[in-house]
Amino acid sequence: MECDVLIVGGGPAGLSLARSLADSSLRVMVVERQPETAIAVPGYDGREIALTHRSIATLKALGAWHLLPPDEISPLNEARVLNGASPFALSFETTGHGGGPLSLMVPNHRIREALYHSVRDQPNLTLLTGSGVSAVKTDARSVRVMLEDGRSISARLLVAADSRFSRVRELLGIDAEVNRLGRSMMVCRVTHEEDHHGVATEWFDHHQTVAMLPLNGRRSSAVLTLPAEAMKRVAALDDAALGDELTRRYQGRLGRMQVDAPAHVYPLATTYARHFAAPRAALIGDAAVGMHPVTAHGFNLGLQSQATLARLVREAAGSGQDIAAASLLRRYEMTHRLASRPLYAATNFLVRLYTDERPGARLARDATLRVGSRLPLARRAITAMLMQR
Ligand SMILES: Cc1cc2nc3c(=O)[nH]c(=O)nc-3n(C[C@H](O)[C@H](O)[C@H](O)COP(=O)(O)OP(=O)(O)OC[C@H]3O[C@@H](n4cnc5c(N)ncnc54)[C@H](O)[C@@H]3O)c2cc1C
Repeated sequence: MECDVLIVGGGPAGLSLARSLADSSLRVMVVERQPETAIAVPGYDGREIALTHRSIATLKALGAWHLLPPDEISPLNEARVLNGASPFALSFETTGHGGGPLSLMVPNHRIREALYHSVRDQPNLTLLTGSGVSAVKTDARSVRVMLEDGRSISARLLVAADSRFSRVRELLGIDAEVNRLGRSMMVCRVTHEEDHHGVATEWFDHHQTVAMLPLNGRRSSAVLTLPAEAMKRVAALDDAALGDELTRRYQGRLGRMQVDAPAHVYPLATTYARHFAAPRAALIGDAAVGMHPVTAHGFNLGLQSQATLARLVREAAGSGQDIAAASLLRRYEMTHRLASRPLYAATNFLVRLYTDERPGARLARDATLRVGSRLPLARRAITAMLMQR
């Protein structure tokens, strides 16, 4: 088989790149390891994605936004960061940014479903499902990919969009920083007695982090982070006991909580590829940058990476240039590194600062919040980043 752009991974990053290349002269193929039904009707995975305004605009341009069920889009008006029992809170709200919510929350499986339906009938796209990639060979003119089921595909450009533990990245010989954090994150939709007023809270308490992300009605996505061993005990609780446990761990701030949808647990690891490109190949989405979920930027950055690559590839195709020229791939790498590295470093710094249990670190956290709460410029800069259009 032959195509121009071969994308490995039919997750949100891979499918959005495929869609960004619609209406071009390029023949696009997506190879996805799971069967087609798994990406056509993705199961609920507990993740609620906080979308920046820029991501919302991208999803609209891709024709995926209007495919989302409107009642599953929840406004997030304000975000507060709390430290242990400290009364100081760092707050991000939209005042001065033209009003409207800071972000909109959408379930990850709905985004995946909408992206699948946006590409399903795309004339220049072939979707190959049910087989992963087993080998990759590149030369100056093309790249050849062998699938686990024995088929092979040659392409002009190969794009890895196959998750933070990307097999294609490995087959291309690109190394990555991998930090296994020894902690797990539980995400669980809950109903509660009190109103959240659209406020998201990130509470860094001792030995646990609890975030509450507001969903429509008196519902939230409870996000609990614990050391992996401690999480095993919590994950084994039945729904009634888990509701009580979350109520207790959140100190009843939203009243009594009840589990509304099955909890999902993710072992936490961050990854950052040493390069985002190799001859005739590029990495996008989590395959390039696997962010810690605490600052809610993984998908947003993934969407940005595919938009950057798609723009360069479309420009090259439109002017008859090589869509995998070394200079094009270098520009992609540089642009995405500039967009992602500061966020990746700042997020990891925040995670280290707020999960260090030594007394000195606790004081440093409190000091950061006090200073932060007096630095309207810093607060405004972060808010502007969330609101970027
Ligand atoms: C709990 C949690 C909360 C999050 N919250 C947010 C948030 O609020 N905001 C935000 O922006 N981000 C958030 N994220 C991050 C976001 O979910 C990810 O960044 C995003 O899903 C990455 O998309 P992707 O397409 O790059 O990779 P994935 O979603 O991992 O998709 C990869 C695809 O590739 C396929 N695949 C894998 N290997 C192969 C192979 N060898 N061959 C073929 N196919 C293969 C897989 O089956 C899958 O379909 C969160 C993550 C977690 C865990």
